Amino acid sequence: MAGKDYELERLANERDAARRAVDSAKARLDPISARRDGIRSQIEAANDRIADLKRSADNEYEAMKICYQARNKYDAENHKYRAQSFREALQREYDIKKGYYTQMEVAKSEFNAALSELRSAKDRLRRARDAFQARLQAVKAANERERANWKEKSCKCCGGTIRYRVDWNRVPDLCKSCQERERAKWHETTCRKCGRSIRYHEDWSHIPSICKDCKAASAR
Ligand SMILES: [Zn+2]
Ligand SMILES: [Zn+2]
Repeated sequence: MAGKDYELERLANERDAARRAVDSAKARLDPISARRDGIRSQIEAANDRIADLKRSADNEYEAMKICYQARNKYDAENHKYRAQSFREALQREYDIKKGYYTQMEVAKSEFNAALSELRSAKDRLRRARDAFQARLQAVKAANERERANWKEKSCKCCGGTIRYRVDWNRVPDLCKSCQERERAKWHETTCRKCGRSIRYHEDWSHIPSICKDCKAASAR
């Protein structure tokens, strides 16, 4: 009785499509997120190297000062030279770190674009689910009302169940199989005079051989 609801089917398809859109947005986001994490740990490693180089440079400068105070110019110059090469290495690390920041900016904007895509896909899924649920409830309620329109009674002949709608003009007294059996008891024969067909019931004691018209004509 509950027929196929095409709107419900359309909404189910839209919900499935929205779910696929969420999945593919997630799939796009994951590698960007992994790349961002990779860059972040490279920046951390660069920060560690920078802290080491700074400490080394500072130590060399300290040593240089002490040697100058001790009038040990030769060692002081050596420490100064080493401090400067640490400073140069430090500068290279800063440049490398700047490169990571640039990569990070790109990854961040890609991540944000993918994230907003995921958010709108999730919104679409939420709307599609709500619409599907609302339609489902409406279809269920309509089916419930339709069920209430159907009643049952017993067949006069066999006592079997007859289902009928309350708004039917004519409610049958016989069930389908009894109706079939009853119909099969009617036969046709041909009028002996005019050849037209005559319908008769097999329970009749007398089977007419001439039709009503011919009978009426002969009676005149
Ligand atoms: Zn019956
Ligand atoms: Zn006749």
